[in-house]
Amino acid sequence: MRLSGITPSGHAQLGNYLGAISAWAAEGGDEDLYFIADLHAMTTTHNPAKLRGLAAETLAVLVAAGIPAERVFVQSDLARELGALTWILECTCSYGEAARMIQFKEKAGGQAGVRLSLLTYPVLMAADILLQGASEVPVGEDQSQHVELARALARRFNGTYGEVFTVPRAVVPLAGARVRDLSDPARKMSKSTRDAAGVVFLLDEPDLIRRKIRRAVTDTHTRPEYLPEDRPGVANLLEILAACTSATPREVAERHSTYGALKEAVAEAVVETLRPVRERTRELLADPAELGRVRKAGAARAAERGEHRLSSALRLIGAG
Ligand code: ATP
Ligand code: MG
Repeated sequence: MRLSGITPSGHAQLGNYLGAISAWAAEGGDEDLYFIADLHAMTTTHNPAKLRGLAAETLAVLVAAGIPAERVFVQSDLARELGALTWILECTCSYGEAARMIQFKEKAGGQAGVRLSLLTYPVLMAADILLQGASEVPVGEDQSQHVELARALARRFNGTYGEVFTVPRAVVPLAGARVRDLSDPARKMSKSTRDAAGVVFLLDEPDLIRRKIRRAVTDTHTRPEYLPEDRPGVANLLEILAACTSATPREVAERHSTYGALKEAVAEAVVETLRPVRERTRELLADPAELGRVRKAGAARAAERGEHRLSSALRLIGAG
């Protein structure tokens, strides 16, 4: 069983769709779960109302993209279960183990008033994984150390108190496009990037998408060629077009003789790929009752799935 999450740290963007969400919709199994990691979006300064809105929007996006509604839930709807399990796991984790996390060192560096949750969120992530009994966790390089921690905690708990948790492993996500920022191809497209000019959001209107793609940074050549190292901007456009049309970047390079023509083709392909997702998301957001039903059902199913693990863990550790 696989578990994947997306943090509502901003509006979902094209990279999230081509690199993750579309695959989640296409190939998930009945038992797989996808969640909106809103509790993880509170480890640095955040705006409560904005976070609530982004969590609802991201839920709508996942369902609109075609992930069956019963496989999706919002993390904070399981705040009580996850809070309890996080505590149990914090009592299984050493301070040194948490402090070793590279992400913590990178993000906390030099910051004043670092939230304690920035240190402990890998333990919450372990709770996300272990509560659901996930065996496989698709994560990028930057999160693999956290899955290692979840593995270590599962083993330690099982060995010390009794067998409760499935020992998870990190899996390399299936080859998906790695989309780069349109204004700065040196960095990946991210929903939390401040400057939105290089980021195509899933809910952007078609004209805005076309404008952003027309302004994408390329280079001084004129004819498209797929050379990711030397011409990263054009390579990014070719990869995006390839991902939207199920072709290879080299094939799409051959079909377009100028950068201008390529950009037009990329813009149209992206607009058409995102259109159904955008329209369906807007419908769902306009129907809060329906979205509320989806959310409640997903939360109930996820909570029920994890219930026996949480109660066994509490009992074995000497509580309740
Ligand atoms: P943040 O800036 O908050 O880290 P993000 O856009 O990187 O946001 P995440 O919530 O970290 O999004 O990741 C959600 C999923 O989207 C993950 O599976 C991640 O690998 C994938 N993903 C994120 N950005 C890209 C991208 N540019 N190309 C391909 N996949 C991406
Ligand atoms: Mg990210």
